[in-house]
Amino acid sequence: MRSFSRILAAVAALAGAAGLVAPARAQDYPTRTITMIVPFAAGGPTDVVARIVTAHMAQTLGQSIIIENVVGAGGTTATTRAARAANDGYTLITGHMGTHAAAVPLYPKLAYHPEKDFEPVGLLAGTPILILAKKDFPAKDLKEFIAYVKANTDRMNMAHAGVGSVSYSSCELLSSVLDIKPVGVPFNGTGPAMNALVGGQVDYMCDQIVNAVPQINGGTIKAYAVATPERNPSLPNLPTTAEAGLPAYQASAWNAIFAPKGTPAPVLAKLNAAISKALDDENVRKRLLELGSDIPKAEARTQAALAALMKSEIEKWSAVLKPATN
Ligand code: ASP
Repeated sequence: MRSFSRILAAVAALAGAAGLVAPARAQDYPTRTITMIVPFAAGGPTDVVARIVTAHMAQTLGQSIIIENVVGAGGTTATTRAARAANDGYTLITGHMGTHAAAVPLYPKLAYHPEKDFEPVGLLAGTPILILAKKDFPAKDLKEFIAYVKANTDRMNMAHAGVGSVSYSSCELLSSVLDIKPVGVPFNGTGPAMNALVGGQVDYMCDQIVNAVPQINGGTIKAYAVATPERNPSLPNLPTTAEAGLPAYQASAWNAIFAPKGTPAPVLAKLNAAISKALDDENVRKRLLELGSDIPKAEARTQAALAALMKSEIEKWSAVLKPATN
């Protein structure tokens, strides 16, 4: 009996080595749990958007999607890991304007290239950037904020989620518009950075709206402006940067799912359809809208649209950001 099973095992090994054992068919995907890497700490904007959308995708796909928060280096540690993962559709990443665009000019030796090492799967949500400060920051509006940070630039602690993150890049843009050089204070995500802002340990931050709406409504932080051409329906009293006197500062992020390069097309198509279905779901929409996100319209949901967005964003940020020195 024992030798028979040994023979069976040997035959199976030979068949496998000769490629005779049929691999799991892409059409049957998914047949097991999917891992979604989130490149920042739990509770931050990337994590929140990923959790809202993937919870619905899991229902559509009939398999669980487990979120794995992998932190470090402004999201680039996790993105490197995702680039090197098996391209079978079981390891995905929720990346964003930072990991899949702004990180390129900031890290000349980046271990991955967003276009060469990933397949774009689908856009999840646009997230306008807000200028936020601790509750007792001595400025009542954006004009006063600008005057204060200019007068006290080297005493200002600006929180961000690491070089390459959305918060870092957005505040770098603000610094260049205002010609200031604050002290950057890195966190593993803007979830922990927001805790520090609420606690008054840092002075200000440029963050994605989904992380800030509950805090602004709760009165635990100050918000000066939303850096988009229009006000956001979730915060109707918050002026735009143009209204508040700083039209040159425009910033909005986006969050999207990517798969390692070479992931089979039918797998990508299934995932893309599951994202779109989630974005049409009433509860998913309600939660994303309450947090101020922009839900992509049909034409922005295709893989090709995400590829084009990533390309144009890499170009845009490459013109604005220089390799990081801190
Ligand atoms: N997405 C945020 C950023 O890049 C970080 C986070 O999600 O926690 O700043």
